[in-house]
Amino acid sequence: MNKSSHVLCKYCKKSYIPRPCDLDKHISTKKHKDAEQNDKQKLFSEFAAGKKVARAEILWSFFTIYRNLSFNLSEYAGFFLQSMFPDSNIASSISINRKKNKKNYRKCTFKNG
Ligand SMILES: [Zn+2]
Repeated sequence: MNKSSHVLCKYCKKSYIPRPCDLDKHISTKKHKDAEQNDKQKLFSEFAAGKKVARAEILWSFFTIYRNLSFNLSEYAGFFLQSMFPDSNIASSISINRKKNKKNYRKCTFKNG
């Protein structure tokens, strides 16, 4: 049988011949269920971490706008946050700069105006 007649399970990376009985048998195995659960938890963790980073970046933008701080300050904020919190995954993922802060500012002012 050639390789194109095989399918690959995206969770446990196992290749098998796609017969209905094999599919049912495969998805009922502990290995497949554990791999599927781990994949979903990983996706959720990545999503949650991404939301925390976006929240931190938006809070920074609101802070600079509310306190009427220079957009140029944002060029250095990411560096300082990463230096102050070297163990933080959120701080290490923050990407703040003048251009992004200006973009957030426009979104805020146009939304309210
Ligand atoms: Zn599987």
